[in-house]
Amino acid sequence: MKTDVLIIGAGPSGTASAAILRKEGFDVTIVEKTTFPRFVIGESLLPRCMDLLEEAGLLEAIEKQDYKEKHGAKFYRGNDTCEFNFSEQYTKAKTWTWQVPRADFDKVLADEVAKKGATILYNTAVENVVFENDKVITTVTSNDETKTIESKYIIDGSGYGRVLPNLLDLNIPSTLPVRSAFFTHVDDTNRSEDIESSRIQVVVLKADVWVWIIPFSNGKTSLGVVGDLSFIDKTKTNDENFRILLESNDFLNTRFGKNKFEFEPKVIDGYSAGVKQLYGNRYVLTGNSTEFLDPIFSSGVTFALESGVLAAKLIVKELNNEKVDWEKEYSEYILQGVAVFRSYVDRWYDETLQTVFFSDEIDQDIKGQICSVLAGYVWDETNPFIKKHKRIVQTLAKVIAIKKG
Ligand SMILES: Cc1cc2nc3c(=O)[nH]c(=O)nc-3n(C[C@H](O)[C@H](O)[C@H](O)COP(=O)(O)OP(=O)(O)OC[C@H]3O[C@@H](n4cnc5c(N)ncnc54)[C@H](O)[C@@H]3O)c2cc1C
Repeated sequence: MKTDVLIIGAGPSGTASAAILRKEGFDVTIVEKTTFPRFVIGESLLPRCMDLLEEAGLLEAIEKQDYKEKHGAKFYRGNDTCEFNFSEQYTKAKTWTWQVPRADFDKVLADEVAKKGATILYNTAVENVVFENDKVITTVTSNDETKTIESKYIIDGSGYGRVLPNLLDLNIPSTLPVRSAFFTHVDDTNRSEDIESSRIQVVVLKADVWVWIIPFSNGKTSLGVVGDLSFIDKTKTNDENFRILLESNDFLNTRFGKNKFEFEPKVIDGYSAGVKQLYGNRYVLTGNSTEFLDPIFSSGVTFALESGVLAAKLIVKELNNEKVDWEKEYSEYILQGVAVFRSYVDRWYDETLQTVFFSDEIDQDIKGQICSVLAGYVWDETNPFIKKHKRIVQTLAKVIAIKKG
């Protein structure tokens, strides 16, 4: 079998790439290990996703789904709260997005790119990839049958599968400490359909332990705790441990304490990862097969779409015999966005950002600038909270401390 571009994985990065390549008339084959719908975590989008879905021609299919709108984020720590509304952000850009059950969302995207002419081979896993001068030979298996696919380029959108980083020895440890997540979906019978339900809610339990609350339009809500999970008692079931967690916090207990879990709570460990390089001869890594930092700012799908769209646009250029500077046009751009989020993840876990969030001292302009980071507009260098991302949060926290005396 032959195709112009082979894509590993039908997650958001893979389908975004496929959509761009199909727009330009290239032949695309996605090889997907599972059958869809399949569960994956990562359900809260950022407004920046809307631009990318639009560019890929995928927005309309998602608009038809009636997903829960997300207009901001609200953080809770004890009696303190801090709210960000995307409509008040600094960057003049999209002001809302959705929160989506990913099994469903990813299937809608995959079905849409199939409609646009991409071939999707489900239940088929990439096992090996050989790079020759002018082509790539990929070995895939499905139900114990092995075959090869020849392509001009290969895009690795395999997410946590990290196919090319594993095959080409590109993995490097993340700079972040190993953290874990413990999560489920609950029947959210106590949700009030007010403004709160159009936010992601983040409840800080300890400096480095926090809970996400992500409401869906189907009446279910995603609940997960991230950080040091040493509270988990190995002699108890995951159900029992999750109940104990909910009971430990009044806010969580009142809303979810008695509610039914949709599935036994799951644990994921050590999801943060890095790579030596994002591209090479005839290949490019996108989405989670590149870097994944941390769930705190819900940036994963945004990066998956951003990198999926950009990688495909650059491959289109090459297929049209235009020169591409992959280092500058791809790697530097993607890593610049990653670096901004890395600063904010670091400042979240060392509590500097929490000091800022829960202070009364920050004015609306500053809040708007931080809000643009939370909306995913991390390439807007006119925003001081992006341009000076390495120092500005600490400086602000010091000013707050001085003002408080
Ligand atoms: C605890 C936690 C919470 C998160 N919360 C959020 C959030 O709220 N918002 C957000 O935006 N992000 C979140 N993320 C990140 C999000 O999960 C990922 O960034 C996102 O799913 C990446 O998309 P992707 O397309 O790169 O990969 P995926 O969505 O993982 O898709 C990769 C696909 O590749 C397939 N595949 C793997 N190996 C092979 C193979 N060998 N052959 C063929 N196919 C293969 C897989 O089956 C899969 O379907 C969270 C992550 C974690 C760990």
